[in-house]
Amino acid sequence: MAFELPQLGYAYDALEPHIDARTMEIHHSKHHNGYTTKLNAAIDGTDLEGKSIEDILMGLDMNNAGVRNNGGGFYNHRLFWEVLNPEDRGRLSGELLDAVNEAFGSKDAMIEQFSKAAATRFGSGWAWLCAYPGGKLEICSSPNQDNPLMPGVGCGGHPIMALDVWEHAYYLNYQNRRPDYISAFFKVVNWNAVEAKYAVAK
Ligand code: MN
Repeated sequence: MAFELPQLGYAYDALEPHIDARTMEIHHSKHHNGYTTKLNAAIDGTDLEGKSIEDILMGLDMNNAGVRNNGGGFYNHRLFWEVLNPEDRGRLSGELLDAVNEAFGSKDAMIEQFSKAAATRFGSGWAWLCAYPGGKLEICSSPNQDNPLMPGVGCGGHPIMALDVWEHAYYLNYQNRRPDYISAFFKVVNWNAVEAKYAVAK
């Protein structure tokens, strides 16, 4: 079974004005679609065919550029769309809030640290909130389409919140103002989705 471009589950304009419809449309239908198509081409006829994307990434040969870039691109964007779902966003609460308070001191301090990781990632990449088995949280960033599931990326645990800081994610609306885009992300993040991912990851 080849990987398929995941449906957003919401309209391209659902995150306006924070993330504009044109950016969402190009990002999903062109960029994410491209990663999905190229991932399928990269695993076609290899022993990776038929594995889950998580298994592919966790066992990745980092010298395999085709699978590294496109497998990362496929997985990372899927998580990103899920934590942006505008339905029933909720508030940071429950066990996730407890873990945030324990790791960072407060919700605001977590957002500040995450925003700093996103703002200081030079060039293209991603910022992550990750959960280790047992529930401990960590924030980090990675270059290009690398992610914390890959071996040796330098941050651990299972990603539960992702922010794309490639210029293609914000340039049409924000140009070089990456910090404004990062602030906008926290106006549309779906805490219920992040909390559900935390419950599974821990
Ligand atoms: Mn992207």
